[in-house]
Amino acid sequence: MAVLLPLPLAKPYTYRLTPEVKAAPGDFVLVPLGRKRAIGVVWGDARERISEARLKNILARLDAPPLPQSIRRFIDWVADYTLTPPGAVLKMSMSVPSALLAPKAKPLWQRGPSPPALNMSEQQRRVLAALASGPASARDLARRAVVGAGVIRRMIAHNLLIPAPPKVGIAAASLQVKPGPQLSPAQMLAARDLATKVRSRSFSATLLEGVTGAGKTEVYFEAIAAALEQGRQALVLLPEIAMTAQWLERFRARFEAAPVLWHSDLGVAQRRQAWRAAASGEARIIVGARSALFLPVNDLGLIVVDEEHDASYKQEEGAIYNARDMAIVRAKFAACPSVLVSATPSLETLVNCQRGRYARLHLPERHGQAGMPEIAAIDMRQTPPGSGRFLSPPLIEALRETFAAGEQALLFLNRRGYAPLTLCGACGHRLACPNCTAWLVEHRQYGRLLCHHCGHYEITPASCPKCGAERSFRACGPGVERLREEIARDFPGLNVAVLASDTLAGPKAVDAVIERIGRRQIDLVIGTQIVAKGHHFPHLTLVGVVDADLGLMGGDLRAAERTHQMLIQVAGRAGRADLPGKVLLQTYAPDHPVIKALIANDSQTFLTEETKARMAAKMPPFGRLAALIVSGADEGEAMEAARHLARLAPQSAGMRVLGPAPAPLYRLRGRYRFRLLAKAGLGAPVQAWLRDWLGKVKLPRHLKLVVDIDPISFL
Ligand SMILES: [Zn+2]
Ligand SMILES: [Zn+2]
Repeated sequence: MAVLLPLPLAKPYTYRLTPEVKAAPGDFVLVPLGRKRAIGVVWGDARERISEARLKNILARLDAPPLPQSIRRFIDWVADYTLTPPGAVLKMSMSVPSALLAPKAKPLWQRGPSPPALNMSEQQRRVLAALASGPASARDLARRAVVGAGVIRRMIAHNLLIPAPPKVGIAAASLQVKPGPQLSPAQMLAARDLATKVRSRSFSATLLEGVTGAGKTEVYFEAIAAALEQGRQALVLLPEIAMTAQWLERFRARFEAAPVLWHSDLGVAQRRQAWRAAASGEARIIVGARSALFLPVNDLGLIVVDEEHDASYKQEEGAIYNARDMAIVRAKFAACPSVLVSATPSLETLVNCQRGRYARLHLPERHGQAGMPEIAAIDMRQTPPGSGRFLSPPLIEALRETFAAGEQALLFLNRRGYAPLTLCGACGHRLACPNCTAWLVEHRQYGRLLCHHCGHYEITPASCPKCGAERSFRACGPGVERLREEIARDFPGLNVAVLASDTLAGPKAVDAVIERIGRRQIDLVIGTQIVAKGHHFPHLTLVGVVDADLGLMGGDLRAAERTHQMLIQVAGRAGRADLPGKVLLQTYAPDHPVIKALIANDSQTFLTEETKARMAAKMPPFGRLAALIVSGADEGEAMEAARHLARLAPQSAGMRVLGPAPAPLYRLRGRYRFRLLAKAGLGAPVQAWLRDWLGKVKLPRHLKLVVDIDPISFL
């Protein structure tokens, strides 16, 4: 039998199936590997002949639901497409190895029925307090309450703690479809279309498009309800920062239960539970970040990719893949519909609609909805901010009016920290990361300078390492922390919240701030892209984009498209409910096509122009790209290897290889990086060419070659 192991191996290994072990394709099995044992998946019949003497036995079949054929084929496909060893892709489906072992019956404890005695010890009180977040194992309780195991044992003996009833599948037991909310006629049509597709039990791809507030979520909830009626499972992919309490609240309102969640914040026990529930079919609806795509969801009836344009769907490390695109493939193998959802669909998806590969459902604005707010540019050349400041007089005036009217405002700046650059006032020396080609970003909150690429940090040196001047370092440019300082000077006493991924620890903290905004305890939100996600701020009437040009420059092929999407999303925060909104863009380039399209509220023209430009350059989605990145600690060696690679490039009429060139992020974590870009026409066998090419290249072991098919990042 061929057994695939979750290791970076090119193919499955062959093992002997003995009569004692009954294993079929898809089963998880225990096999010997060298001197150790490993868990793998029976992939099919053996493809190679191995002498009987060398053949080893499959030791046991594990008590876990088998990996369905649709997922095995999906794994093979992803491996083939991304040029990743199949075992490395399988590893993503086996991300919780402990879930494969029969669950250990570790009892969970909850508070006993007897009223707490007056003579309870401080330690016992702490244990009961630790139960606030739900039943827990004795070990977890001891850890949470910081008490010894003996304390817990005595509490169990005295019935202060009693066993909690076993948890019936997260969300499974109580899950029921409530009658849906009143839908608008347009929503109803779209929902019916999707529900019909779900019932047909066959593959389809559909774009569900509509401005924020048009009711896209309610529509795909109807498709989920249809999948549940069919007795099948549904998978919803969401960018992690969009998995908010608000979203979950809406979900609960519709399905009367929480979905099974899958994101990076989960502990091992939760991951194990979620994995098993997905595999057993007990979890009917799974909501997760991109890696949820590889969960062994057994009977998939629907995949939804919300915020499909979001760049976080691309995994940039390990197996490099785009979960948005792979979701379509996953749906194909599972023979179920897929739905891509966005207010600002990616150009790729729009072109797929034009080509007739995806269906398109468009939701118009809701009746009575405020629609797009009024958008205007502030020409920073005409009305520059005061020295050492970043907000121009017209923006400050608009803020003043907003606060005077008792309304809320948002300042958007996609820059974490205090200042993006720190330089010596005497000699101009800039503080850079010792490991990366990147400036150190000052975070006053932590009193540190941080590298956003490798995590290196240091404190601001007392004297300049170059010229020796004392206390000469100055902050250059704005970050969200610095804006808060500027605001505090102009508007003392204002309630300000900074929303950035590093000022808030996890989704819960973000939710807490969002709730305070909803209760109008906050006047001004200063935020990075985290605020661009679909939160509802009904009393927010002014959005100031501090640097609308940020992101427009740079060699990234999608820079304009992404800036356009992000600014539209941010603009969507203003002017909800019955209060009209206003968006002010601070820019030095008011004539840039992106800025002009935004002001004219004319996305269509922008997209048409962007499409034309890409078509002319044969860039995606009108051509195919693959990036190759060679990196090594030794600069000369890495460069030589990259050149060697380029020399061996296939001389095919259909593919051009550009480079090598030093990557924009030239040094990363101490390694020098060189990029090559392979460019080919649509439908070209890029993978076959690459395999052929890379098969000829043998790089020294300490150099690394990363292949990125359909690159999103060009750093
Ligand atoms: Zn200096
Ligand atoms: Zn660094």
